[in-house]
Amino acid sequence: MSFTLNDPNLLKTGLFIDGEFLRSETDGKRLDVSNPANGSILANIASATKEETEAAISAAETAQISWSKTTAKERAAYLQRWYQLVLQHVDDLAIILTAEQGKVLAEAKGEIIYGANYIEWFAEEAKRIYGDIIPQPANDKRIVCVKQPVGVVACITPWNFPNAMLTRKIAPALAAGCTVVCKMASETPLSALALAELANRAGIPKGVINMVAGSASVIGPVLTESPVIRKLSFTGSTEVGKMLLEQCAGTVKKVSMELGGNAPFIIFDDADIDSAIDGIMLSKYRNSGQTCVCSNRIFVQNSVYDQVKDKLVEAVSNRINLGDGQTEGSTHGPLINDSAVNDVQSLVDTSITEGAELLLGGKVSELGGRFYEPTILGKVTNDMPVAQNEIFGPVAPLIGFDTEQEVIAMANDTDVGLASYFYSRDVGRVWRVSEALEYGIVGVNEGIISNEMAPFGGVKESGMGREGSKYGLDDYLEIKYICMGGLES
Ligand code: NAP
Repeated sequence: MSFTLNDPNLLKTGLFIDGEFLRSETDGKRLDVSNPANGSILANIASATKEETEAAISAAETAQISWSKTTAKERAAYLQRWYQLVLQHVDDLAIILTAEQGKVLAEAKGEIIYGANYIEWFAEEAKRIYGDIIPQPANDKRIVCVKQPVGVVACITPWNFPNAMLTRKIAPALAAGCTVVCKMASETPLSALALAELANRAGIPKGVINMVAGSASVIGPVLTESPVIRKLSFTGSTEVGKMLLEQCAGTVKKVSMELGGNAPFIIFDDADIDSAIDGIMLSKYRNSGQTCVCSNRIFVQNSVYDQVKDKLVEAVSNRINLGDGQTEGSTHGPLINDSAVNDVQSLVDTSITEGAELLLGGKVSELGGRFYEPTILGKVTNDMPVAQNEIFGPVAPLIGFDTEQEVIAMANDTDVGLASYFYSRDVGRVWRVSEALEYGIVGVNEGIISNEMAPFGGVKESGMGREGSKYGLDDYLEIKYICMGGLES
């Protein structure tokens, strides 16, 4: 193990079912969790069988009966206690997250606080699940609408935000009165299990939260085919999301899909260029380019192209210090695994073959392994693979454009639509472009757009549903219409 915790009990390696951490029956097939910075094995965790996944569903089904009967105020209090415990253990949780995911400690701490904010937010929102009384069509009737929990929810989450993607689902589900069975990414299960331990300490009743790590092909179908699971909330790739949508059709589950992106970042010639460079540094290179909202294509108006290019090369050269996330001074960590490194290298090589100009980086760093140099490519065109695929690495492709109309057409020329960004100081353009971009999120003169108060989600093949904000509870609630008749004497 390559880390030390103040509270070693936060390192859990079992399945979390019905309030207990269990060894799996598949002890022979346990899952190794490794540190992407050096390949060392951090832990060896239980990998759930079909029967164990069914046991988790069954625990959630039983717990659902009493959990749905708690008052909103009681559920809010449980969530508040969990929130406080997460904050108390932020340092340990960040150490675990950095060790298994690779992002630097400060960024990991940021994710823990960001994730905790969803717990606090939905603790508050639990008390505001209002119904409606609608004017009746006849005087002997009344129309009443109440909101009720969907039921047992399956949550499947990715490795790039192993803490926050889970709290963004579990907190609204619990607030609404649902119970959950979570399958977290195999690369990063330790952050999730530490959250389960803290939920247990917060007194959240057994069976309300269940977690099963392990093989997606074993656990996935059990979750999607179960008639007990009434909703699937998935965050991950568009490819897997489409497959899960098909699998959920058999039992007509409610679904939320937070899928891949291909964010445009547009710099108009009236922009504050220095502020746009700061925006790229955050939106492109955060988590070494491994976020769904990372800017993927940087469109620069040709009249300021050279200026932006020079300033960006300077900023990236001076501000990024690759290294082990646990080492002081490191600003950016490694990519998650070898296949991610190969994918990024292949996109860079193809771009150069097709005529792009290598301005910086373009290869694995001297640190070796999964550390990929921050890279900038010039003279990219919107039809190159690097512009049409989600890069998921620290590569910034620069694409020149002349007119507003031209850049909007290029920005929208993709099947996905999660985050988008643009920089301009012209108020008319700010409205026109915000309205024309086919994306769920638009950052205007801003490179960081995620917070618990705002609705997060995409359009087109980036998914359906919204997480966070006052809208985030809707996906975990059903509206029941009660028609009361015979009321006139
Ligand atoms: P992924 O390969 O789709 O995996 C995501 C999760 O799905 C993991 O837990 C994975 O388990 C599981 N999974 C894979 N195949 C499955 C199957 N057949 N049945 C059931 N579960 C299955 O995505 P990723 O590589 O971890 O994450 C990166 C992607 O997530 C990117 O496309 C990124 O844009 C997207 N993302 C989107 C958002 C958003 O809010 N829109 C946020 C973050 C990330 P295993 O780990 O065991 O394979």
